Amino acid sequence: MALRNIREEGDSILLKKCRLVTDFNRRLHTLLDDMKETLLEADGVGLAAPQVGVLRRAVIVMDTNKEDLSPEEQMIELVNPVIIEEDGEQTGQEGCLSVPGVYGIVKRPGHVVVQAQDRFGNFFKVEGTGLTARCFCHEIDHLDGHLFTERAERILTQEELQELQEKDE
Ligand code: ZN
Repeated sequence: MALRNIREEGDSILLKKCRLVTDFNRRLHTLLDDMKETLLEADGVGLAAPQVGVLRRAVIVMDTNKEDLSPEEQMIELVNPVIIEEDGEQTGQEGCLSVPGVYGIVKRPGHVVVQAQDRFGNFFKVEGTGLTARCFCHEIDHLDGHLFTERAERILTQEELQELQEKDE
């Protein structure tokens, strides 16, 4: 496994549409392993392949609702993910490893069901609520070249950011 560089806003690769994964081979497995390692190192909750410069439909999402699992166990690999059901609504703050230091208020569904393939090509369904639902939507948006900053109702001000940081400490 190896850490990969996270591409940041301004890099045109983040605005491109990703292609479907058709080969469930070692190259894909290495990509997914590297993405997991990179996500853990960056201490994020999700990562999409274009963020490490690969235009393929693959993402990692942390299921942070499963609090008793270790970070490694919380990570879900989703290849060719599609949101097949969504309901409810949540409005909350969102950030992105590719847009460091920026947080915005984004409206997302409260609950989503995603169909995807695993690294071997087997289809499965997974659902998420709260932050996990938000994360599925955010990561799948990346596969179509969308950043949360386009969807944000507004971007948090420096003052609001400072307040958040103080709360965290
Ligand atoms: Zn992101």
